[in-house]
Amino acid sequence: MTKAIRIHANGGPEVMQWEDVPTPEPGPGEALVRHAAVGLNYIDVYFRTGLYKAPLPSTIGMEGAGTVLAVGAGVTEVAAGDRVAYAGGPIGAYATERVIAADRLVKVPEGIDFNTAAAMMLQGMTAQYLLRRTHTVKPGETILVHAAAGGVGLILCQWAKHIGATVIGVVSTQAKADLARANGADHVVIGHANLPAEVKRITGGAMVPVSYDSVGKDTFMASIDSLAPLGLMVSYGNASGPVPPVDLGLLSAKGSLFLTRPTLATYTSKRSDLVAVTNDLFDVVAKGVVKIQVNQTFALKDAAAAHIALEARKTTGSTVLIP
Ligand code: NDP
Repeated sequence: MTKAIRIHANGGPEVMQWEDVPTPEPGPGEALVRHAAVGLNYIDVYFRTGLYKAPLPSTIGMEGAGTVLAVGAGVTEVAAGDRVAYAGGPIGAYATERVIAADRLVKVPEGIDFNTAAAMMLQGMTAQYLLRRTHTVKPGETILVHAAAGGVGLILCQWAKHIGATVIGVVSTQAKADLARANGADHVVIGHANLPAEVKRITGGAMVPVSYDSVGKDTFMASIDSLAPLGLMVSYGNASGPVPPVDLGLLSAKGSLFLTRPTLATYTSKRSDLVAVTNDLFDVVAKGVVKIQVNQTFALKDAAAAHIALEARKTTGSTVLIP
């Protein structure tokens, strides 16, 4: 037997139960991984509440790092004993041990510990594709980053700064503003009530070519109104709730804007993309360009407490759960 957090119904943090489950066996193409650390991500909240659907009962969680215990037939990517990490579906990471398709695993470079690996995969790969593919950020550009002191946010700020962009971060408190500034944000706006006016002031009226908006419902219009003509609205999360349907006429009225709703799954669906994205990420972390900040650690069995902190906007940077 092994241990896992399971949910039998969607709801608040209290639906997460620490239960005995049978140790899974790896089938063809699969690997059995013993987690040393599990990454906490906002998407875990969406699966818990039911905003994103999964069959019940379920073990939620999309990210982990640990050691391969065994592999099934035909596995070539990893072998027993390898230090590995992964991020993305299918859910099932809130467990001491899990089985996962071996072609979703990458080997963790020496010098990156398991906590850092579990913290960085999902948020770091997301920052990578947002900055390098969804929109290719160029030196000298001024970009808008919401939830700038969060997990994805702190990585975006550091990486964009390294590329040579000017970063305007949006946060909810002075303490988070200080943290975002310390991690590369050149300007920080607290709250989004006057965001377009602040962006106008900071950019001398030019506005920004791209807004990375993970907050969703509450900030959608503030992001749209902060864009330059032909700007790109990247709506990549729903921390405040999903964005209601958009009238396409809005995009023409606001200056021939572009709108995308990207997800990591698309950008890493091919093994070659997964390897390229993780190599790029491991490289900036190894060089110290991006420092992964594990600012909260919880026991995996206390995942409910971690969710409460995340939803109450009490966390900064990344959070890991220890089995
Ligand atoms: P964060 O650490 O960024 O935590 C969420 C943050 O959102 C909070 O700290 C808070 O920052 C801000 N926020 C704004 N409004 C609310 C609200 N009403 N309730 C709660 N939080 C709010 O989480 P992650 O780094 O794990 O994820 C960031 C976002 O990116 C999430 O929306 C997630 O779903 C999304 N995401 C999307 C991916 C994709 O591929 N599409 C992949 C990975 C993440 P503040 O207090 O400063 O406002």
